[in-house]
Amino acid sequence: MKKILPALCVGLYTAALWAQGGNVNVYKLGGFKFYALNNNTGAVPENMIASKVPFEKTPGWNDHALNYFVLDTGKIKILFDTGTSTADGGKVIERLKEAGIKPKDINIICLTHMHRDHIGGMLDDKGKKVFPHARVMVALEEAQYFEKSGNAQAAAFLKAYEDNITKFPQNAEITDGVTSVPMFGHTPGQTGYMIESDGEKVFVVGDLLHFYGQFNNPDLYLSYDADPAAATQLRKTILGRAAKEGFYIAGMHIVKPGVGKVVETDVKGSYTFIPGIQ
Ligand SMILES: [Zn+2]
Repeated sequence: MKKILPALCVGLYTAALWAQGGNVNVYKLGGFKFYALNNNTGAVPENMIASKVPFEKTPGWNDHALNYFVLDTGKIKILFDTGTSTADGGKVIERLKEAGIKPKDINIICLTHMHRDHIGGMLDDKGKKVFPHARVMVALEEAQYFEKSGNAQAAAFLKAYEDNITKFPQNAEITDGVTSVPMFGHTPGQTGYMIESDGEKVFVVGDLLHFYGQFNNPDLYLSYDADPAAATQLRKTILGRAAKEGFYIAGMHIVKPGVGKVVETDVKGSYTFIPGIQ
């Protein structure tokens, strides 16, 4: 496994568990501190949702959220995605402030993919960098795809952070305790990040799920997945693994607090979400 950034020693945290609620939730994860920051909540329009199998619309089935996460290892702070731009309702600077974190103190940004609701917070209203000191990690396949896509927002982001970006190969160790995992399907280079400290694990899964009903019925998918079949298969595999192996998952569109456990129901292949890190 190739290590991308130099080893950084891990400080010990004895932070208390904050109560869940509001837009900022902080958890202890082994020797790390994990912040779940919620930008906003809402519902995915039904006409954007598809399925190859019949399904039942239970209350709250299309509820979703927009989240980003911060890992504080005690030595460095790593931000996972940045939400939308301020013009598009993005609140990443506000939420970091509520968590007591300054944008200039973010050392690494791990992007799951380059859609507008993930890279929008990278630039301010004037097109300037919000995170001047951050090393920005993007999977090689994702960067290459968006470089050729003609997407203006992606181009502006890539240009502004030209000197900060590291395009990494699959399964790279980003830094101590954080490893990238290819999750191609929703976009050609979507990447998850497995975080581990003292045997406790959170898997940051990007857009593996877009709304609540996908826990119960992983066959439901969003009409703009680049490869719906691959995205659906990946959702089934990772939910199954999370339930079996017991790691937490953190998703950019999972309902508040955006991080929690996955438990299989009495119906095989159907899951529920237990919010929070215990
Ligand atoms: Zn998204």
